[in-house]
Amino acid sequence: MKFQLTLRQRGISDQVVLRTLEEVPREVFVENRDRAYAYQDSALPIACGQTISQPFVVAYMTEQLQVGKDHRVLEIGTGSGYQAAVLSRLCKHVLTVERYRTLADAARKRLEKLGYYNVEVLFGDGFDVPAGAGDFDRIIVTAAMEQIPDRLLQRLEQGGVLIAPVGPHQGTQTLIRVVRTDDRFERKSLVDVRFVPALPGIAREL
Ligand code: SAH
Repeated sequence: MKFQLTLRQRGISDQVVLRTLEEVPREVFVENRDRAYAYQDSALPIACGQTISQPFVVAYMTEQLQVGKDHRVLEIGTGSGYQAAVLSRLCKHVLTVERYRTLADAARKRLEKLGYYNVEVLFGDGFDVPAGAGDFDRIIVTAAMEQIPDRLLQRLEQGGVLIAPVGPHQGTQTLIRVVRTDDRFERKSLVDVRFVPALPGIAREL
């Protein structure tokens, strides 16, 4: 109850998004030692020096993405798999890409165990999504990019929406929402956020 209330108070109004966050057990996605804090509105550390985003940011990005039942969604930055789990409840299919093998493997197991079968976790570089994966109705980037690569925008279907935190790796970024109409890309700045950096290539560490 408190969880939903905090999200509402911070301005999340989409009932479906609120219900979905209520349904996905965040405590399964955080480290065991942090289970008691799973429903507080804060980001938490996960393996490989990364973080699971704050619930408000997950809810806000999901709301802004306007995901439809028939959509194919691409996420860059699987991390714990929590954002992918939330999206999977709202769309047809999620492809989520992670550059740490350890995180990708753990997220895949977790999502399978929870029965979120319409999520595919790919160990790889989100700056270089295989062409064979096709194009996407929605793209969500959950790591900070200094700029949005053109080749990523090209993976949006007509009418597609992309959301990404854009700005310097250290410090604050701005969430940018891009809508593709014909070959125009309309950009809008949303709110300031802080994400861990999006780095090129797969991680050499586990
Ligand atoms: N969405 C996640 C949190 C993301 S943290 C969740 O719900 O838990 C950002 C993640 O992006 C980190 O795990 C980091 O390793 C990953 N990342 C950074 N650069 C990447 C890249 N180029 N390709 C794929 N993943 C990347």
